[in-house]
Amino acid sequence: MNEQYKQLGVSDAVLTYGETILASLRERFDAIDAIAEANQLKVINAMQKNRVAANHFNLSTGYGYDDEGRDTLERVYADCFGTEAALVRPQITCGTHALALALGANLLPGDELLSPVGAPYDTLEEVIGIRESVGSLKEYGVSYRQVDLLPDGSFDLDGIRAAINEKTKLVTIQRSKGYATRPSFSVEQIGQLIAFCKRCKPDVICMVDNCYGEFTELTEPVNVGADMMVGSLIKNPGGGLASTGGYICGRADLIERCARRLTAPGLGREVGANLGLLTSFYQGFFLAPTVVTSAVKGAVFAAACYERLGFRVVPPAAETRHDIIQAVELGSREGMIAFCKGIQSAAPVDSYVTPEPSPMPGYDSDVIMAAGAFVQGSSIELSADGPTRPPYAVYFQGGLTWYHAKLGILMSLQKMQEAGLISL
Ligand SMILES: *Cc1c(COP(=O)(O)O)cnc(C)c1O
Repeated sequence: MNEQYKQLGVSDAVLTYGETILASLRERFDAIDAIAEANQLKVINAMQKNRVAANHFNLSTGYGYDDEGRDTLERVYADCFGTEAALVRPQITCGTHALALALGANLLPGDELLSPVGAPYDTLEEVIGIRESVGSLKEYGVSYRQVDLLPDGSFDLDGIRAAINEKTKLVTIQRSKGYATRPSFSVEQIGQLIAFCKRCKPDVICMVDNCYGEFTELTEPVNVGADMMVGSLIKNPGGGLASTGGYICGRADLIERCARRLTAPGLGREVGANLGLLTSFYQGFFLAPTVVTSAVKGAVFAAACYERLGFRVVPPAAETRHDIIQAVELGSREGMIAFCKGIQSAAPVDSYVTPEPSPMPGYDSDVIMAAGAFVQGSSIELSADGPTRPPYAVYFQGGLTWYHAKLGILMSLQKMQEAGLISL
């Protein structure tokens, strides 16, 4: 195997370093595998309960009336996560769209939206109207309030209590840190926050942006009081096979409004052709628990490798995981380039291209990205990116298989060493 690694560009020194780190992670990996096992059983149970059968993979076109495969998949999602209803559709184009849909469908003019966990994910700024935008919630008369986290990263309960008022209709909670430097929240923490919000206002709707979080723990936010949870199928629950799509799971009345907003009042969930994508949605959901495990192992391995070399990593190697994102602060532009070159050179697709920092719409500094994915933009596949500005952090995520994630991290170390940025 050393020969095979050598052929791919990994030196003996890097491989030996990696194996030393791995030897210290055995127990962690066992615990991660145990989560995958429980989640795998959860998915199979939901599929059996709903009698998933070969005819459910059939193509539907046009209106998509009486699409049993589509309707059964939605019951599988609902049962797996323990919710009354689910909307799982290729017509939901991405995570941002799913979130915009859930918000737009359940907020009416005069209502207020509250984020009690600080600023939401970048792409939601225009959805909400934090940045002026045509079609934003703000334009439709929905106001927005935000309560930032306290300096130690905890919830500002006094601030939240003061912010909740008679207009507050919906509370949005982002589970994963995304590209922020705050920690990601555990399902347990989210449950405590929801309980607090509902004590302040019992009928407030609590929604969780679950992107990157699915299957990283034994439970999901809807199991601790969330009325809706929302995510993208080209992240965790698509298992790397879904080529597009998004989902919203939760209370039946809220999901019904989402369906009517996605299609039209009167049509709701009755229309929407599956376009032949159902096999990949079912099979991806079936694979998702183990795929997520590979990504989580990759994140823990990366954290351990870079932490031992003296780099700041968020979360630290020893911390339990609530999502698949690993930030590594490399301290220099050169470090980010070397890291991303390593990830790119380990990819099954586009391994021969060299990532370079370049300007991106919406960012005030150059952004570098490494990805060699089967599905464009898929971040459940091994990828790394970040804006080239202090603290020069790369956000590393994904890995359809643990062995690919391992190779990617070893290659990143290799490129760092070749650039003279680390010595092993
Ligand atoms: C990825 C992500 C989104 C947006 O999803 P897209 O599919 O990129 O539109 C929203 N919130 C969080 C936390 C995310 O990680």
